[in-house]
Amino acid sequence: MKKGLLLGIALAVAMLMAFSLAQAKTRFVTIGTGGITGVYYPTGRAIAKMLNKRKKEYGIRATVESTGGSVFNVNAVMNGDLEFGIVQSDRQYQAINGLAEWKTKGPQKDLRSIFAIHPEALTLIVAADSGIKDIRDLKGKKVNIGNPGSGTRQPAIDALEAAGINYKKDLQAESIKASEAPSLLQDGLIDAFFYVVGHPNGAIKEATSGARKVRFATITGMEKLLATHPYYAKTVISIAMYPGVQNDKDVETIGSKATLITSAKVPDDVVYAITKEVFDNFEEFKKLHPAYATLTKENMLEGLSAPIHPGAMKYYKEVGLIK
Ligand code: GLU
Repeated sequence: MKKGLLLGIALAVAMLMAFSLAQAKTRFVTIGTGGITGVYYPTGRAIAKMLNKRKKEYGIRATVESTGGSVFNVNAVMNGDLEFGIVQSDRQYQAINGLAEWKTKGPQKDLRSIFAIHPEALTLIVAADSGIKDIRDLKGKKVNIGNPGSGTRQPAIDALEAAGINYKKDLQAESIKASEAPSLLQDGLIDAFFYVVGHPNGAIKEATSGARKVRFATITGMEKLLATHPYYAKTVISIAMYPGVQNDKDVETIGSKATLITSAKVPDDVVYAITKEVFDNFEEFKKLHPAYATLTKENMLEGLSAPIHPGAMKYYKEVGLIK
């Protein structure tokens, strides 16, 4: 009896110790994404889900945060508020080189890349009754160019400038989040909005399924911009993804890529774990969103301008993706 009690107590103590050890070892990491109707948010969730499946093994618990977008994510990862962020490849380039939004702050030296994800297009969605067909027709219109934390804003400004439009003088620019733009367009409060985003996505589905008819406007004549900004490339938006849209052919525009970034301060084993789970389960990952249709393990290493984090590099070398 006494022996049994002692054994019971010893067992309870051992279990408690094991439990608190496991608790102490769990590290919490957060992935910064974008608005919930974009592609970043479901992407962050897909990555977190893969990592959390092996929570016991890695001692890591990942959560996802909806944020203002790329620029917010770079800054939040740099100041330690987030461990990971999804960021446009063009903003990654600007941040590591201290350009555009980072001109006064200077190069973000601790910025590290992990992998690239889906392609994103500079999408210009307009009300059909506005008469806008191309970016050049935006003069005098009420246009959402995106909130300051978004990755949409600067590419929109770059394309407007390339089209000879000064966003401060030649149009009525709004600075709201992309997740709020579809209802403003439907309510007649804006004529058009820009969104750098993968396709298909919830925001454009929302914008194209209301009573007010909408179309994609083309973003053409960008040759000079492409020559001086190597991280943008020509792309097309497939209209087949949006049955309600008033276009009769696919839409010419420019775009870049979504990428996963982190900080040099995030431990190697944490970055290794996130990289391994996504790449080891690549086929499963690819099925999680239609925007990943063109992904290959090889093109997930293209478009990275910040140094690759050593934790990710360890995995790429192990599997021979990088020699
Ligand atoms: N590219 C957008 C941004 O950085 C976000 C797109 C998305 O959430 O899918 O603001």
